[in-house]
Amino acid sequence: MNRILAGIIFLLFISTGYISFLVHDRQQELQKLTHYTASWSASQLVSEYYRFEASLGLYAIDQTMTLDDVRLRLDIMLSQSDLMKQGDLERYIKGSPAHQELAANLEQTLDYLDDHLEKMNRSELQAYLKTMHGLDVPLGRLSSGALDKDINSINNTNLKIRTLYYIYSAISVLLIILSAILGVLIFYQNRNILKAHLQVQSLAEELQGSKEQLQIQNTKLEYDVYHDPLTKMSNRLFFWDNLNKTIETAKSNSNPVTVMLFDLDRFKEVNDTYGHDAGDMLLRQIADRLNALNFPADALYRLGGDEFAFLTSGLTETRAVSRAQQICDSINQPYTIYNAIINITTCVGVVNSDTERRSDYLFKFADLALYEAKNEGAGKIKVFRQWMLDKLQESRTLEHDMAMALVNKEFVVYYQPIVDSFTREIYSYEALIRWIHPLKGILSPDSFIPAAEKTGMINEMGKSVLEMACREAASWAVPAKISVNVSPVQLSSKTFAGVVLSILEQTGLPASRLELEVTESSLFAESSTPLNTLNKLRALGVQISIDDFGTGYSSLSRLSRITFDKIKIDKSFVHSISTKEDALNIIRLMTGMAKSLNMKAVAEGVETQEQLESLQALGCDLAQGYLFGKPQPYVDETIENGLIANARR
Ligand code: C2E
Ligand code: CA
Ligand code: CA
Repeated sequence: MNRILAGIIFLLFISTGYISFLVHDRQQELQKLTHYTASWSASQLVSEYYRFEASLGLYAIDQTMTLDDVRLRLDIMLSQSDLMKQGDLERYIKGSPAHQELAANLEQTLDYLDDHLEKMNRSELQAYLKTMHGLDVPLGRLSSGALDKDINSINNTNLKIRTLYYIYSAISVLLIILSAILGVLIFYQNRNILKAHLQVQSLAEELQGSKEQLQIQNTKLEYDVYHDPLTKMSNRLFFWDNLNKTIETAKSNSNPVTVMLFDLDRFKEVNDTYGHDAGDMLLRQIADRLNALNFPADALYRLGGDEFAFLTSGLTETRAVSRAQQICDSINQPYTIYNAIINITTCVGVVNSDTERRSDYLFKFADLALYEAKNEGAGKIKVFRQWMLDKLQESRTLEHDMAMALVNKEFVVYYQPIVDSFTREIYSYEALIRWIHPLKGILSPDSFIPAAEKTGMINEMGKSVLEMACREAASWAVPAKISVNVSPVQLSSKTFAGVVLSILEQTGLPASRLELEVTESSLFAESSTPLNTLNKLRALGVQISIDDFGTGYSSLSRLSRITFDKIKIDKSFVHSISTKEDALNIIRLMTGMAKSLNMKAVAEGVETQEQLESLQALGCDLAQGYLFGKPQPYVDETIENGLIANARR
């Protein structure tokens, strides 16, 4: 459309220009008409010549005409003859040689008369008149020829003006048509513009509607991003945003920042016992209680699972702790869910600092404090202290050193005998790991096993102990058993049974000579892997003992899912055997239970003869302790039992 408009406007422009040109052209042609004077000049010249000839003739035959009259005529004629040397007539004459000759003759004739008129007599004049008559006919032809030429020119000009008129009219009509088209197009264009305007208007309205909808969605989305869908509490993302903001404001006011992390105790048990619906309901009720505390909106968060956080600034440590206590008190009240009363507690880690301004550090410190609180037991509140960080760093160093120790083979195995309580004959040796630390000397397992379990390094460490112990036992002349401790972490690995079997194969130790000591906690794992592994190994002849029996949370139903060969009565009971009657009764119970389940009972930590005698009286089959021998890097040959000496090749 725009192109058409541009084309039409261009055509209009050209047409108008052309019309100007036509007008100019017509003007030129009209002007030409005024120039067509050749015929007039010629007829003037000819008639003046005839008149002069007549007056000269009269003068030659008659006395009435004076010479002065003739001279006047001659002068007029002379001036008339100048017409031949100018304008259209001159151009006309130059166009033909005959006319040029005529003009020359005429000029010559007149010049002659001009010079001789006064001197000539009448008869001479009469004779000369005859010569002059010779010019009459050619002059008449000249006049009529000029007239013809002028008439032709006028006709031509007329024709051209008419043609110009036609073209002019045609272009005018074209102009009118173009203007009409232009008008229509502009109208059409206007209508389109109006339509487009209306469309734009409705689009703008739609856009406004969408914008409002988008704003609503955005607000909802923003809410969803920053809130936990279950409890509607602010979430982890919101927590980090606000932690940074709180730090910024606290910085400018030189206020301390308080971060508290809450972790519910035994929440998993609620889920396991009452179901996840009850767990969710509990979390919602906790959120309701926290809301009811009426703390500022940006103070409480659910970070995920059973973790909550509290964030504020400007509190002293004492006030921060009492705030933590207030929150704990609120959470620790019993809940009624599906008609069941559920009691739950929470541990809290608190950090209150006016120097530490790094959000991730504050969070980490609160987390360390929480870890310590958890270690101490349910419902504990702990405030971050520097030693917690030092401990963490130590454990990191320990982890690093342990990895190096594995490579450098710094772990060795010590052996402690387990004997028959009555005959003192060696029944087996327990393999106990030691770390020969290049700087710290011999380290006992309690100082590194927990860290090894945490990092998973225990798998490799345990495998190497098992290998060393089996190889050692296979070298003994006497087929005493070897007892190896197995961590719960090792037992939850699906490859553990395979590892044991391949070691037995490599070392050539019969499965019946290997005993694995597992703790009760191993059997409480979520998965069924530990029980399956133990059943499999036991089926192959490996014996299984429950270590530290009586210290964990054994459930008889779970214990009955696998038949054990021994229970090892924890040394805490043995040590109290002579002082606490409870301990004696518990040992009696345990040995009784072992007997009825066809298992052997082993008493750990027997240090005195007195303890041994009590154990004998209670019918305990086997005993282990300093009384019979301390853990040694080799099997003890000093025990007064022939078997020991023979045990080494
Ligand atoms: P445990 O399995 O209960 O091992 C017995 C612990 O009691 C040993 O400590 C042993 O030295 C100590 N003990 C033996 N007789 C007496 C006694 O008469 N009096 C006293 N007070 N203590 C006695 P140890 O060697 O320091 O081992 C500590 C724990 O480390 C072990 O407890 C065991 O749970 C773990 N452990 C040791 N070696 C390994 C290992 O190779 N793998 C795994 N996973 N754990 C191991
Ligand atoms: Ca043990
Ligand atoms: Ca033990």
